[in-house]
Amino acid sequence: MAHFSRRNFLSTTAAAAAGSTLLSRVSLAMPQDPVVNSKGVKKDGKPFNGEKVAWKARPFPMKNVRLGEGPCKVAMEADRQFLHSLPPDRLVHTFRINAGLPSSAQPLGGWEAPDCELRGHYAGGHYLSAAALMYASTGDEEIKKNGTAVVTELGKCQDAMKSGYLSAFPVEFFDRLRERERVWAPFYTVHKIMAGLLDMYVYCDNEQALDMCQKMAGWTAGYTGSLSYEHMQRVLGTEFGGMGEVLCNLYAVTGKDYYLEVAQRFDKKAFFDPLAAHRDELKGLHVNTHIPQVIAAARYYELTGDRRYRDIAEYFWEEVVSERSYCTGGTSNGEGWTSDPGKLAKELSTNTTECCCAYNMMKLSRHMFGWSPEAQYMDYYERLVFNHRLGTINPEDGTMMYYLPLATGYWKTFGKPFDALWCCTGTGSEEYAKLTDTIYFHDDDALYVNLYIDSQLEWPEKKLRFKQETRFPEQQGTTITVSADSPAKLAINLRIPYWAQGGSVKINGEVVPAFSSPSSYLTLNRVWKSGDKIELSLPMGLHIDPMPDDGTIQAAMYGPLVLAGRFDAVTKEMTYGDYEPKPGDQKKVADVVADGSKPTSWIEPDAKQLLVFHTAGQDQPQTLVPLYQVIHERYAVYWKVDNKTT
Ligand SMILES: [Zn+2]
Repeated sequence: MAHFSRRNFLSTTAAAAAGSTLLSRVSLAMPQDPVVNSKGVKKDGKPFNGEKVAWKARPFPMKNVRLGEGPCKVAMEADRQFLHSLPPDRLVHTFRINAGLPSSAQPLGGWEAPDCELRGHYAGGHYLSAAALMYASTGDEEIKKNGTAVVTELGKCQDAMKSGYLSAFPVEFFDRLRERERVWAPFYTVHKIMAGLLDMYVYCDNEQALDMCQKMAGWTAGYTGSLSYEHMQRVLGTEFGGMGEVLCNLYAVTGKDYYLEVAQRFDKKAFFDPLAAHRDELKGLHVNTHIPQVIAAARYYELTGDRRYRDIAEYFWEEVVSERSYCTGGTSNGEGWTSDPGKLAKELSTNTTECCCAYNMMKLSRHMFGWSPEAQYMDYYERLVFNHRLGTINPEDGTMMYYLPLATGYWKTFGKPFDALWCCTGTGSEEYAKLTDTIYFHDDDALYVNLYIDSQLEWPEKKLRFKQETRFPEQQGTTITVSADSPAKLAINLRIPYWAQGGSVKINGEVVPAFSSPSSYLTLNRVWKSGDKIELSLPMGLHIDPMPDDGTIQAAMYGPLVLAGRFDAVTKEMTYGDYEPKPGDQKKVADVVADGSKPTSWIEPDAKQLLVFHTAGQDQPQTLVPLYQVIHERYAVYWKVDNKTT
């Protein structure tokens, strides 16, 4: 699987530059919702609405949701600190050099280094998306100012290059792409830049950014329009991120049909056709190259009503979630799907579950939920939030992980602040800036409470406000208090998670005589007035998540949380800098012996500490804690369990 890895690509780039036509399959990630025309753009004199298929449940604008104290806020603040640490003049340095403009700034390192073929993906792409989202989530004016400064400088670079082209690398990379010569992923990088500009327009009202994004789309139209269909299909053999998605979104905010047409040039036939026919031919594919293409398919469906694209997206989601995901919700091994469906027991390594894949699957899940607001989508989303997104950003300094290793006995590694700027740094910078975007959804008559995260929601159209107070996941439930200008009729849908072991709900202290089954929404339909209080209790319990193809390889879970055995601390040198821990430098962990008739009998809760557990009945006792709380220690997620019948 070395041929999948970026590390391999990076180390062989120079040697392979002369004449090799071996194309690497490398990847990355992208922006948010259906970006809708919220600015009142008109087409033929009428307000334009490109959404042929409206979401049945829709998110609130992020500015209407604010996080309260808790692990999500800690992650968001670490991300905010990280974004503040990046000076605009360093971010635009390579763009200026590429445009022939002077710059004396110190170059960034890692994937933003002046000789890295992906340069610009973070500095002029993810950074802008993250700044725009962070502004939407927090109102941080300084972040918006820095994002605006980057847009202004990039505008000068684009003007200097005259053709509409905007990138931190020469346009010659696209010649290599066309000729099928070795090059990393030019459209991948351009997608990040276009998405960043579009986000600056959508969330920060930056009209210049929209104009720049359209110029780049014009350049893209010219490049792709000069190729035959077959030639373009070959070009799509090189990772191209969410080009289809950003062009769809550009159509949605401008009403220019042309962008939709250009977007569809990025339909990769060899990938879509089997999915449309409900055939899992994912084995051998680079994972994060392909998830963004399915998000684009989801957007095509929404903007065209073409049901085939919905089929593609739904079948893909189902296969990845049910056949190719680990207990954390993460997917990929060595960046690829390297096995047949449901075969994961032998797919444990130091570079399982790339963080970008979690980010993109979460984005895709929001589309699924929008079309059909079912709890299964948010159950999966929650799994990723609490096991893969929390815990892959270092709460101390905002540095981020690349892979989340699930092989036993390894540790977490984080990128250095100015010298990583990997794909996953980019998607992470966006993720933790938008933790506000999925907690609540709504339709015309109902509120959906999807996630149990301490937060406040404003719903100005209904003159309603909601305050959710919880220490979840330490607390097994939540309390929601309503404020209303005047009494309002509304259905409040509370997600009852798949893991709930019973549960109950009280309104104003009185138990509601009905509840709902796991993995469904409980609807509370009434006229709400100020001060009304909902208390939801969701008892957690221990359960086992075994490998689908080997029941003796098991992860332990408590409610939504993957538990990890926590072992010895690792050094700072081991923690920072690498994509993954050193393969082979593994702590050996003894097999667990358990009573086969009682699958969780080998774990017991600590008598005093919340969310701390111990192995029971083993020769060497071990301590388990939620995986997201492990930062600087070796850990074990999957255990080999020998069942003994008693
Ligand atoms: Zn990544």
